[in-house]
Amino acid sequence: MNACFTNRLIHMIKKGIAVLVFGFWGLLPGLTQKPLEQKPSSPNVILILVDDLGYQDVGFNGCSDIPTPNIDRIASEGVKFTQGYVSYAVCGPSRAGLITGRYQDRFGFGRNPLFAPNDPEMGLPLTEETLAEVLKNADYKSIAVGKWHLGAHQSLRPLSRGFDAFFGFLSGGHTYFPETWTLRDEYEVASQFDAYRTKLLRDNTRMEENEYLTDALSREAVNYIGQYQDGPFFMYLAYNAPHTPLQATEKYLSRFEDIEDPKRKTYAAMVSAVDDGVGKILDKLEQLNIDQNTIIFFLSDNGGPERVNASDNGVLKGGKGDLFEGGVRVPFAMRWPSKIPKGTIFHAPVISLDIFATVIAQVRQPVETKHQLDGVDLLPYVLGERTDSPHELLFWRKFDQNQYAVRNAAGDKIISLKDRIELFNLQENISENNALKNTDSLRSEALNNAWNNWNLQMINPTFLGLQSDKLYTQKHPNRFVKPD
Ligand code: CA
Repeated sequence: MNACFTNRLIHMIKKGIAVLVFGFWGLLPGLTQKPLEQKPSSPNVILILVDDLGYQDVGFNGCSDIPTPNIDRIASEGVKFTQGYVSYAVCGPSRAGLITGRYQDRFGFGRNPLFAPNDPEMGLPLTEETLAEVLKNADYKSIAVGKWHLGAHQSLRPLSRGFDAFFGFLSGGHTYFPETWTLRDEYEVASQFDAYRTKLLRDNTRMEENEYLTDALSREAVNYIGQYQDGPFFMYLAYNAPHTPLQATEKYLSRFEDIEDPKRKTYAAMVSAVDDGVGKILDKLEQLNIDQNTIIFFLSDNGGPERVNASDNGVLKGGKGDLFEGGVRVPFAMRWPSKIPKGTIFHAPVISLDIFATVIAQVRQPVETKHQLDGVDLLPYVLGERTDSPHELLFWRKFDQNQYAVRNAAGDKIISLKDRIELFNLQENISENNALKNTDSLRSEALNNAWNNWNLQMINPTFLGLQSDKLYTQKHPNRFVKPD
C-alpha cells in the first residue's frame, strides 16, 4: 500500500466513526442538538468617499465617456439617491459633517482647515464624536484609509479619533506619484501645499510606498478587509481622486484614447482607477463571503469643480464651492444585499449626515451618542416602510461669504446671493436658471425664517481656514517647527 492510499483509508475510517457516533447521538430522544440560534450580527460598513467628483461622472448618473461598472454596482445592487447632498461645498467641512452626523457649523467647522501639525484647534474638536468612536462601544474595529483633513495635530489624527488603523495622509490633498513623496515628516513641510508631498502614514509611522496613490489606497483597503473580516468593522475609505493635481498612470490613461481634452482624459483615468479599486473591494467581500452583510456607501465630498479638474455636474448649476446644486448635490448610493432590494431608486432629498444615523441604527446592540444627530436612519424610507420625506428641510451656510441656502422636501430652495435672495423650485427647474418672481415671496420668506432659526443654533468658525493661510502663518510663525 502506498502512503496516499493509507491516508485515504485512515480518513475514510475516521469519517465512518464520525457518522456512526453523531448519527447515534441524533437518534437519542431529547438529546437532538438544535442548531444554535444565530444572533444576527452587526453589519460591516464601508464608506467610500471620493473627492471633487462631478454629479454626472458615474455611470449610474448617466456618464457617457467614463465607464464606472464597479461603482455602478453599488447603486444597481442597492439604492441610488437622486437627490443626495453633502453639508458643505468643499472638502473639510463636508467631511466634518459626514463623520459626526451633524451640521459642522454646530461645532465651528465652517472653514477648510489648514495643515497645522502643532495646532490642536485646527480640525475636528475633541468635544465631537466620530462614527468610529461611537462604533467602538459596539465592539467595532475601525479603519481609515486615504485623505483625513480633519486635523494634523497628534490629538486629532485618526488613531486619536476612534480608528484602530490608518493608512493615508493628513492634508487636504496629495500628489499621486510616489517618487514625489520626498518629505519624511510633517516638520519638513514648509508650506500648505508641501503637505501634498509627504510620505504616507501607516498608523503614526511614515512609510515607503511604490504604487500610484489610488492603487495603494485600494490595495490597503482590500488587505484591511482581509485582516478585519471577522468583523464587525467600519472602513472609512477616502480616496483623494479625482481632486487635483490631475495625475494618472498609463494603465488608466490608455483606456481613454478617445477623449481629446487632456484634462478630461486624465480626470477620466483617475476616476477609472477608483472604479478598479471599488471592484477589488466588492470581489474581496464576495470571496470572504461577507458581502451580504456589508453596507457600502458611495458618495463625493462635494460637487465637481468643472473648470479645475474637467469634471461634469450635468444639468446642475455651479460646482465645488457653490450652494447651487452643482456644489452640494453629489453621486450617492448605498448597497446592503441582505436588506436593500436591487435596483432601488430613492428620490426624496437625503444628506451625507444621514450615513451616521443610518449606520448606528443597524448595530445589533444599543449605542448612545453624545450629541443630537442631524441625520436620520434612511433604511425605513429606502425600504418603503415610511413614505414621508426623511427631511422636511436641509440647510447650508458659508460663513465667510455670508451666504446660505435652504431647501424643503417639495423642492423649494432659496439661495442668498450678494444683493438678493433667489427662490427656485427644483422639481420644475433643476438647473436653477429662472428665479421665481415676487409673487412667491411667501414661500421664500418661510424658508428664510426657517434658515434664521436654524442659524441661531450654529456657532462661528473656531479656526482660520485655507483662505487665511498668510494671516495664520503671521500669527503662528512656528507652525511647521517641531516642538521640543
Ligand atoms: Ca473635495
